[in-house]
Amino acid sequence: MEGSDKRERLKDFYLKTRNCEKCGLAKSRTKFVFGSGSAEAKIMFVGEAPGKNEDLQGLPFVGQAGKLLDELLYSIGFDRNEVFIANVLKCRPPGNRDPRIEEITTCKDYLMEQIKIIDPRIIVTLGRFSMNKFLPGEYISQIHGQARFINLADKKRIIIPMYHPAAALRNGRIMKEIKEDFQKIEKFLFGEPEIEEVKEEEDKEKQLSLV
Ligand code: URA
Repeated sequence: MEGSDKRERLKDFYLKTRNCEKCGLAKSRTKFVFGSGSAEAKIMFVGEAPGKNEDLQGLPFVGQAGKLLDELLYSIGFDRNEVFIANVLKCRPPGNRDPRIEEITTCKDYLMEQIKIIDPRIIVTLGRFSMNKFLPGEYISQIHGQARFINLADKKRIIIPMYHPAAALRNGRIMKEIKEDFQKIEKFLFGEPEIEEVKEEEDKEKQLSLV
């Protein structure tokens, strides 16, 4: 798909979804947070759900965690407009509580359609909710920074699970690890990943059933 087609499709999709009322979060939200960035991005970052600032502005990762995400992107030579940033949930759970399973299930088609349109080579998951959507049953402390191939939206894509930036702001060890993990992105973007760092997921059915 040409870049301009992707932009048009993404815009149409936004216009179609922005008034979503599929779950109870529609009542408490201020704004639907579709996601932002380039429709032609090769890397997509997927967080958990909008927080207070995101809900007010309608944009993902604009609070303290977003500032750190910007710095991490800058450290690998990217601006947030060159990647695409989205969340598993498009609306803020009240009081920033954890997303509920039924909310994740209701919202999943939106993220999948965004992946189909943007067609990123790499998806970086931020935090455990996002990781578990693509890699169920895994522990972030064990697999952060390790890339895997999974079949998603008709294509083999690289998933790199990372800690959530908000967790890094609370914990110095996690901050060090997320900074190191970010430095690995470039190698996966431009080269063939080293074989020992990339595992072909065996249980494709399990992943596909999630999306
Ligand atoms: N945390 C998230 O997971 N997403 C945001 O958009 C903001 C904070």
